[in-house]
Amino acid sequence: MTTMSRQTLVIVRLRCDDGIEGLGEATTIGGLAYGDQSPESIKLTLDQYISPLVIGMNAGSANAVMARVEQSVQGNTLAKSALETAVLDAQGKRLGVPVHALLGGALRTSLPVLWTLASGDTARDIAEANEMLEIRRHKVFKLKIGKRDARDDIAHVAAVKSALGDRAELTVDINQAWSEVHARRYIPELEAAGVILIEQPIARDNRRGLARLAQRFDVPIMADEAVHGPVDAFDYAQDQAADVIALKIAKSGGLLGVLRTAAVADAAGIGCYGGTLLEGSIGSMASAHAFAACKQLEWGTELFGPLLLKDDIVVERASISNFELAVPAAPGLGVTLDEDKLAFYRRDRISRTNLAATEV
Ligand code: MG
Repeated sequence: MTTMSRQTLVIVRLRCDDGIEGLGEATTIGGLAYGDQSPESIKLTLDQYISPLVIGMNAGSANAVMARVEQSVQGNTLAKSALETAVLDAQGKRLGVPVHALLGGALRTSLPVLWTLASGDTARDIAEANEMLEIRRHKVFKLKIGKRDARDDIAHVAAVKSALGDRAELTVDINQAWSEVHARRYIPELEAAGVILIEQPIARDNRRGLARLAQRFDVPIMADEAVHGPVDAFDYAQDQAADVIALKIAKSGGLLGVLRTAAVADAAGIGCYGGTLLEGSIGSMASAHAFAACKQLEWGTELFGPLLLKDDIVVERASISNFELAVPAAPGLGVTLDEDKLAFYRRDRISRTNLAATEV
């Protein structure tokens, strides 16, 4: 989809008049490469349109705050997710409970996290997977394919699978790159290579096409870009257009939206997967609280966003051990901002010349 060497995290700080501060995050993949909301547009939406609506409201009700926003702001699910996260974080801190307790409670104390192998270089991907298995950080790997000739991609997938054998499981994410005809032709080869899940092989708009693929093949087909919130999930459920749905707080407009989307999937017998938009620690922990509270999470998660960053703006990054990420039990999200790091990395502290130089 894109190659990234830097990341912008939009951080929301919600200051309540009882002195409690809530944190939220909206982050996307490669500017506008993945979705239609950029870090800059998210910040503008929050500053210009959302903040004036919610300043002065009772911060104790995320439902009421988000209903007010929903009335006046269409779309913009990333900005909404960041705000809702901050409201829930503040309320958790206020009540002394983790965010998942505000969502009805956690069903799991840790979450399996897969790892993406996206270099496209077979030897390098195999070495990376072996290292992750060795340190017991990941044992499911997602290969990003679709940009190259399908035969090269399939040879790559098959080589990685045969090198890892039964020690690991492989999924692929095609990120809408294939046509339906192409998918019909090449999915059997992915199945034969031992792939256990195929993510968004065709365009997000082609719901009927995805339904045909889901019905044609045994290997589960997952909708990601195609399913944002509960309404999309309902459409997909009606058409039996996916076996699995990738849940993301950013797509559903927050943690409560993820639970509503998951409820539709549950009702339809569709599997749930905990997705990421490569959020940093704040957004990933927010997602972890929501995924911990989902009734079923058959396909685990991909909450590895913070691990892609060389540094962090939180005091302590959540760790993964024995292939699972611990769900925080501290009040709120369970993350603390590192003020010095935030001051160091914030973009408006970088001079125009430096920023221009970095962006070149
Ligand atoms: Mg995806």
